[in-house]
Amino acid sequence: MEKFDVIVVGAGPSGNAAAYTLAKAGLSVLQLERGEAAGSKNVQGAILYSDALEKVIPNFRDDAPLERHIIEQRMWVLDDESFIGTHFRSDDFNKPPYNRYTIIRAKFDKWFSKKVQEAGALIISETTVKELLRDKSGKVVGVETDRADGKVYADVVIMADGVNSTLARKAGFRPELDPKHVALAVKEIHFMPRETVEQRFNIKDDEGVVIEMLGKITQGMMGTGFLYTNSDSISIGVGCMLSDFMEQKLTPYDLLEQMKRHPSIQPLIQGGEMKEYTAHLIPEGGYHAIPRVYGDGWMIVGDSGMFVNAVHREGSNLAMTTGRMAAETIIELHRAGKPMSEANLALYKERLDDSFVMKDLKKYKDMPDIFHSNNQFFTTYPELLSRSAYTMLKVDGVDKLTKEKEIFASFKERRSLFGLLGDAFKLWRAFR
Ligand SMILES: Cc1cc2nc3c(=O)[nH]c(=O)nc-3n(C[C@H](O)[C@H](O)[C@H](O)COP(=O)(O)OP(=O)(O)OC[C@H]3O[C@@H](n4cnc5c(N)ncnc54)[C@H](O)[C@@H]3O)c2cc1C
Repeated sequence: MEKFDVIVVGAGPSGNAAAYTLAKAGLSVLQLERGEAAGSKNVQGAILYSDALEKVIPNFRDDAPLERHIIEQRMWVLDDESFIGTHFRSDDFNKPPYNRYTIIRAKFDKWFSKKVQEAGALIISETTVKELLRDKSGKVVGVETDRADGKVYADVVIMADGVNSTLARKAGFRPELDPKHVALAVKEIHFMPRETVEQRFNIKDDEGVVIEMLGKITQGMMGTGFLYTNSDSISIGVGCMLSDFMEQKLTPYDLLEQMKRHPSIQPLIQGGEMKEYTAHLIPEGGYHAIPRVYGDGWMIVGDSGMFVNAVHREGSNLAMTTGRMAAETIIELHRAGKPMSEANLALYKERLDDSFVMKDLKKYKDMPDIFHSNNQFFTTYPELLSRSAYTMLKVDGVDKLTKEKEIFASFKERRSLFGLLGDAFKLWRAFR
């Protein structure tokens, strides 16, 4: 009977962070991945938040495939013809060590996987874990894969198998996916010469710009769009709650096509050669959707545990952090000669509660419900904001006080005074 200290299921950021940390500490680790290689099944925007990776591989900048470091963040609220927004650009973001990078996940995951292998873990790809193996007491003791003689055993199994987490659902550790708790996102990469990217975004060398978008691009559904600069390509995508897609009978493909035609977006991607189109779910249910993440012989990390901060578009960093924390918990117990029991693994949850992961998710715990039931934030307000800016900036002989009154009247007409106050209160609750 083949037995390891730990089995890690999945080779995304959470599984790689866990497997690397464990193998580096000298534990015997088996990592199983259903794709033909790490990254082949993974989708992301993608922004890499360096802090989370630095805590796993401090010198990652030496050879990781990084595209551009981000020096400017734009936030756009769009109606059909315009956008109103903020741009924050800082030279502080242009000084090494850089804080955020754009990456291409297929390349990045392969690099990370090589590091895991070098650290000493055994990685077997093209292998799907079918289910968890349990002993008579219900303790998880290993996994069954789709290979012949596919049973493998370990003291503890880490489920890093992404948003669908069939394993945890099958075992009854996690409920079925609620369409209100997941976004369906689509993404394309448009290739163009490096110089074109740099001219269009007023950047040079490896500097990068990201644009986060919301408003009428999602046609009243709860969701956001994004556009990120890579070295010689642009990633563009949009995602909305799965339940909204089901209700509105719209396809994510249609939404992205329409977004690309927006007069403020189209010139940024013009002439690019589209080489990659992908779709993926993102767990956006927030704090209330997080399941139990540990038990007798098992732990859940990353998207499988619904660890995504949708407000700040952070997912991979929460994945790497939860992966690392699960690994550190196991290492501590292993060194102390303690069993991987539910009571001992509770230390993982304590660590999570004490970290930015749970603190941030708790802060925005009401956000998903509030935005989901108030689609005026994605329709009426973007339009009103845009019209207000247009009215104030158009020089047409009308005095500014009259314009201000017109703007206020248009807000009252669309939302009523009571509605406006109510919305302000909801926003305060969502972000407090
Ligand atoms: C369009 C899009 C844009 C995003 N943009 C960003 C961004 O800019 N920044 C950011 O931080 N996050 C972003 N995210 C979120 C981020 O991608 C995820 O949070 C992150 O990938 C989660 O990592 P993970 O390791 O938990 O899961 P995954 O990356 O999904 O990896 C899970 C792995 O498990 C494997 N697997 C699944 N089931 C099995 C099984 N039964 N047996 C064996 N292997 C299995 C899969 O093949 C996969 O390789 C984005 C997501 C999407 C979809």
